[in-house]
Amino acid sequence: MKSYKDLSPSLRTIMTPGPVEVDPRVLRAMSYPILGQFDPEFTELMNETMEMLRDVFQTKNQWAFPIDGTSRSGIEAVLVSVIEPGDKVLVPIYGRFGNLLVEISERCGAEVVLLEREWGTVFEPEEIIEAIHREKPSIVAIVHGETSTGCIQPFDGIGAACREVDALLVVDAVATIGGVPVKTDEWQLDAVIGGTQKCLSVPSGMSPITYNERVEAKVMRRKTIERGLREKGSAVSAGKPVASNYFDLGQLQDYWSPKRLNHHTEATSMLYALREGLRLVLQEGLEERYRRHQRHEAALVAGLQAMGLSLYGNPDCKLTVVTCIRIPDGIAGESVRSMLLNSFGIEIASSFGPLKGQIWRIGTMGFSCNQKNVLHVLGALEAVLLWHGADITIGKALQAALTLYARKEEELPC
Ligand SMILES: *Cc1c(COP(=O)(O)O)cnc(C)c1O
Repeated sequence: MKSYKDLSPSLRTIMTPGPVEVDPRVLRAMSYPILGQFDPEFTELMNETMEMLRDVFQTKNQWAFPIDGTSRSGIEAVLVSVIEPGDKVLVPIYGRFGNLLVEISERCGAEVVLLEREWGTVFEPEEIIEAIHREKPSIVAIVHGETSTGCIQPFDGIGAACREVDALLVVDAVATIGGVPVKTDEWQLDAVIGGTQKCLSVPSGMSPITYNERVEAKVMRRKTIERGLREKGSAVSAGKPVASNYFDLGQLQDYWSPKRLNHHTEATSMLYALREGLRLVLQEGLEERYRRHQRHEAALVAGLQAMGLSLYGNPDCKLTVVTCIRIPDGIAGESVRSMLLNSFGIEIASSFGPLKGQIWRIGTMGFSCNQKNVLHVLGALEAVLLWHGADITIGKALQAALTLYARKEEELPC
């Protein structure tokens, strides 16, 4: 019989846009004993997780809970629950994940209207507002931080415009939640989807979402109760039932409400991890956490520029937590990445679609976003680029980053 070695994954320095390194306290939380899903001790942990999620999403929404599955499960749950076949959905796209919103919306039977922007830039909010007034969609779905291009979309006035035409604004904040401000209520976002394995620094496998009563109203019109759970007199929905059982927010919110109407079996150990991860985020403080992400981004960028590398994307809309670097001419991007991994234990990311082979992406997210990691990646990248014969400035990168770290906090650029 074949014998398998003990499981012993290597300790890596993970500087990608996810999954990122996880605080040992979160890993420890995942090893705690299992509780039954209706055990009051467990349902109390569910309630606390909802409370902490409201703080992290900066919302007073009643509904804030995780979907079990990777981040796209949160996106699917929201879209399949709010899109009725034939609904018009406006999707402004400026990278890979905007295209994912299109793909999922189409599968939900939407009539999708696209607004496209060259990758590496974002939209002026006015362009989106004008399209909202022109198209009068039922739903506007947009990415907040595009990990594929390292750009962040401002939302000024977009939420208000959606309310003028009675559209729901659905935002993919998978990459930004916990690293960059996401102001659900202030920006009038109707549904927001977050991710765990990026700036929250919890393993992949859950997607926290929040939505307001405008979304809930649409969900309630389509509400069904699973056949085997119906009681006499259970309400029957007026709208078209949601095509997915697993992702039906109407059923999920019954499970996350005091009714605790059974749906799936909540992912026990992932819930422990999320609760601990959120606790650590709030213990650090949201503002302090955003500042930490800015500080390490600034040091990384200073180091890369001192090396003479050029960054990809419009600097005016640069996403704090992802830095994209143009691969220098004549350098084999994948060979550089393998050497970083094999010789230094450092992982940085390649890229997708039209940017494949053009850029590397370095994440500074969550637990991975620290001085040690930034200095390691700069030192290693310099050595590996020299090894590959790249024409770079030597000996300056770490000094530039160290100079930045030596500066007082209030002097740092934001
Ligand atoms: C990572 C990411 C996703 C997809 O997340 P999965 O966990 O891989 O499903 C979606 N949107 C954005 C902006 C992301 O960065």
